[in-house]
Amino acid sequence: MIKLTFLGTACAISSKNRDNTALLLKTDRESFLIDCPGSPVSKLKRINFDFRKIDKILFTHSHPDHIYGLPSLLHSQYKLGNRIFIYAKKEVISIIKALVKIHRLEDKSRFPQLIYKNIFPDLNKPFYKSEDLSVFSFEVMHSLNSVGFKFVFKDKKTLIFTGDTAYSEKILNISKDTDYLISDCFSPYRFFKVYKELKREHTDSLSLGKLAEKASVKVLVPIHFCRELSYSFEEVIGEIRRNFKGKIIIPEDFTSLRLD
Ligand SMILES: [Zn+2]
Ligand SMILES: [Zn+2]
Repeated sequence: MIKLTFLGTACAISSKNRDNTALLLKTDRESFLIDCPGSPVSKLKRINFDFRKIDKILFTHSHPDHIYGLPSLLHSQYKLGNRIFIYAKKEVISIIKALVKIHRLEDKSRFPQLIYKNIFPDLNKPFYKSEDLSVFSFEVMHSLNSVGFKFVFKDKKTLIFTGDTAYSEKILNISKDTDYLISDCFSPYRFFKVYKELKREHTDSLSLGKLAEKASVKVLVPIHFCRELSYSFEEVIGEIRRNFKGKIIIPEDFTSLRLD
């Protein structure tokens, strides 16, 4: 069984009901934490996942809403004698190392041994491969060093997670015929007309609907919502539906999807 759980679905500013975006992907044999914002242990406990078992973390980029929970997770895995593999771009790894150092979590006799895996964006060469899946990364238009991930499962189904990104033709091409597209969806388009800088870093729901339709995405899951702006999910779905005919899922925090 492959299960994807949304540990958070909000943008950098969390809301009363939605925390910063993070995902847990679980197969029968392994699990991946994707980004690590606040209170990871409490969130994993809420879905009955043993936080001691987190041994692979993938980071999309180094903005605080994607990495600030890591020291707390390492601190909680006290004296387990375990190892955690950290997959991220080189520049993100240096920020993570500084974060670990400043919190004095480098002592392997007390905290997890961290094994850093420097990822090079490449859709032809997976940076991780196992019996259950292959994982690739690709550069996106957001902050410097931001990536998205592509998962190819053993049944050949594919899942694209864009991370934080502006709309781009590149994401459209990468998402062609994918089974699941989990995408940045900051707000409806009208806010992008007012706050022009958003266009350079995030995706609006109107553009996302166009992208998903052109790419023939089967299931579209918008996340990373900015709840500071005043809009309803009916408006988000309405904008996507102007173009996209496939399935749309708007997840809550702790929603789980079975992918096989
Ligand atoms: Zn973010
Ligand atoms: Zn970001």
